[in-house]
Amino acid sequence: MAIYLKTSKPQEVKAEINAQVRDTVTNILDDIAKRGDAAVRDYSTKFDKWTPASFRLSKEEIDACIASLSEEALIDIRFAQEQIKRFAQIQKSALRDIEIETLPGVVLGHKNLPVNSVGCYIPGGKYPLVASAHMSVLTAKVAGVKRVIAAAPPFEGKPSPAIVAAMHLAGADEIYCMGGVQAIAAMALGTEQIEPVDMIVGPGNAFVAEAKRQLFGRVGIDLLAGPTETLIIADDTCDAELAVADLLGQAEHGPNSPAILLTNSRALAETVPAEIERQLAKLPTAPIARVAWEEYGEIILCDSYEEMVKEADRIASEHVQVMTKDPDYFLHNMTNYGALFLGHRTNVSYGDKVIGTNHTLPTGKAARYTGGLWVGKFIKTCTYQRVTTDEASAMIGEYCSRLCAIEGFAGHKEQADIRVRRYGKKKAA
Ligand code: NAD
Repeated sequence: MAIYLKTSKPQEVKAEINAQVRDTVTNILDDIAKRGDAAVRDYSTKFDKWTPASFRLSKEEIDACIASLSEEALIDIRFAQEQIKRFAQIQKSALRDIEIETLPGVVLGHKNLPVNSVGCYIPGGKYPLVASAHMSVLTAKVAGVKRVIAAAPPFEGKPSPAIVAAMHLAGADEIYCMGGVQAIAAMALGTEQIEPVDMIVGPGNAFVAEAKRQLFGRVGIDLLAGPTETLIIADDTCDAELAVADLLGQAEHGPNSPAILLTNSRALAETVPAEIERQLAKLPTAPIARVAWEEYGEIILCDSYEEMVKEADRIASEHVQVMTKDPDYFLHNMTNYGALFLGHRTNVSYGDKVIGTNHTLPTGKAARYTGGLWVGKFIKTCTYQRVTTDEASAMIGEYCSRLCAIEGFAGHKEQADIRVRRYGKKKAA
């Protein structure tokens, strides 16, 4: 039986926090729907102390951001974008349009159509999340989205040059410096100055994720990609130094980022707390990572790999890093995760920044029903049909007519009956 050696905040406390976030977001969305740009401006001033003449960056401002970066930074950004683009292109090539004759004279098909316009949110409150620009903008462009707009909050009082460069190099058509709920609302609902989009994508903090949740339906959303979560699955092949580096490496995302160790090694479970203290003492982001670990960190001790799979599927974490003798056991048996990082040689940071898989991943147990962002999220699979012979039209029409009668749909029945009369044997007689 699993033993919970360290547990996180109680559920009722988490529910209270969620309720406060929900109410804040509802009020901001209502206000922006009513007052448009003026409200966006007010919230940007309030939350980000940012009130520019225009939220949209001009070509000169974009060029200045790119020029301010070192050659090495631009090379690194381009390298990351090449990896993400390559994998996204291969994933896209696996999506096929189909057309098939399912019965003589009955042709059914589907086409994969990109969404026409997308708004990408790039987080930037605590850190300028440059990588999110590759993950959202570039993936949308590979999918074939015509208009891709991108927004990120100011960082240290101005647009982050690295984020702006990454957005531009990824192919963003419009770049805005605005953050949080106001950015999501402005892109989704439109304002006097911003044409609304069909879909909003990208990660963000709890306010951003809640804004996307509340706007779903008015626009499409990719998934709920809120505060980062990480689950380390480790056995006695993994030492505490490596396990803790990987726990704290993700706990530093924010004070509400859960980092969980799931192990069948009592020795590892018992050495991790002291190693956490040792590494926190030299981690520059310790003030954030410590709160995340103390309030949301967990250590779970299991008896077997089977039990570890069961616990991991229950947790349904965004990131699952597996450092065991046979990491593929978890690939073959787990069903709920945003992304898997298999073996000691890779880690979440590779996936977050550069390796090529997308880092926008489901949180808050959304991994039970969705994977992460990928080209397929930007693509609508739309069906069509045609009937190519009179015989097929009359044959399907007779079935359809009887099925409509069961449901009491007289109008539907007549749609079928008129075709049976026109194309069926009676017409020939
Ligand atoms: P952010 O850009 O998501 O949020 C900053 C914005 O939050 C600000 O612009 C501000 O407008 C708004 N805000 C701050 N306090 C507010 C308040 N009290 N009321 C209303 N709005 C408020 O940046 P961040 O805060 O640094 O968070 C980034 C988040 O993205 C982290 O939680 C990180 O874990 C998460 N993330 C998730 C994934 C994923 O795929 N799930 C990937 C990367 C990052």
